[in-house]
Amino acid sequence: MIKGLFFAVSVACLALPLEWSSQAGVRWTDAGSGSMRGGAVVQSAPADSFKVVLLGTGGGPPVNLQQFGASILVEAGSERFLFDCGRGTTQRLTQAGVPIGSISRLFLTHLHSDHVIQIPDLVLTGWAGGGRTIPLEVWGPDGTRDMMDHIQQAFAFDIHVRRDVDEKLPGEGITVVSHDIKQGIVFDEHGVKVTAFLVDHGPVQPAFGYRVDYRGHSVVLSGDTRVSENLIRFAQGVDVLVHEVVDAVAIRARPTYPANRERMESIIAHHTTPEQAGEVFSRVKPRLAVYSHAPNSEAVMTQTRKTYAGPLQGPEDLLTIEIGEKVEVRHFAR
Ligand SMILES: [Zn+2]
Ligand SMILES: [Zn+2]
Repeated sequence: MIKGLFFAVSVACLALPLEWSSQAGVRWTDAGSGSMRGGAVVQSAPADSFKVVLLGTGGGPPVNLQQFGASILVEAGSERFLFDCGRGTTQRLTQAGVPIGSISRLFLTHLHSDHVIQIPDLVLTGWAGGGRTIPLEVWGPDGTRDMMDHIQQAFAFDIHVRRDVDEKLPGEGITVVSHDIKQGIVFDEHGVKVTAFLVDHGPVQPAFGYRVDYRGHSVVLSGDTRVSENLIRFAQGVDVLVHEVVDAVAIRARPTYPANRERMESIIAHHTTPEQAGEVFSRVKPRLAVYSHAPNSEAVMTQTRKTYAGPLQGPEDLLTIEIGEKVEVRHFAR
């Protein structure tokens, strides 16, 4: 772990101009010192803190034990917001010390399975094992309401038994309120504003990115997208930009590539290469650029450096980014 930690920090700082780092106020720390204990986050952040936790940073359908499926937690003060619910979300929440029953707001970038596959677990276990007593509210592109209704139908037996027959769990907790959204502000309460904006994920339409604003600070989550001018527009002035990336060079070098060229090129075309992501970062100029839904590899960071010299953090599950006067990055201590 220690070795991995130093590797990540040194990669993150690769070619990073010192003055940029201090201007941006970005600080990388070892989570082992104080904020984490026994592998779980100690919930001692100030009431007005603004925090992003990368729960799962893997991309695509294959099972990946190092980088779980796409999911990001944003905490603004006492409010919690989950963005996407890929494979391993409930496990990572538990590792982060966040009770899954405390999640009652879920925002979906798009309906590809790697972003939604653990929703049934969040819905059912958050209620039956997690003690959720209020409805789960879900925002996402067209089709979200249908999908959530079908999940309820698929698990009708379990819901009926636990609610009406055996445990007599509160019906409110297994209620789901879903919204098919359009671009614009989709949530604005308790000083937290969530704005959905359209991104360009090829034929997967609509697909959204999200911007969260809280107490003068902000984070943008790209979702899955190729270079999106609309994202660049919505990300102006953002503190932290979390962006996806695909390593086209590595994909084209696979032995299986020639036989699957058309399919592989279509996948590459619906995502963003490191050089392109670097260009996006250079145009947006966030205080910190972060990769998620991205391979955790030195090659990706090196390719990004061709077009971007600012503060950059690679994808790591359970990485915490605290956004305030400083941007603090804490690695997870296992
Ligand atoms: Zn994806
Ligand atoms: Zn996708």
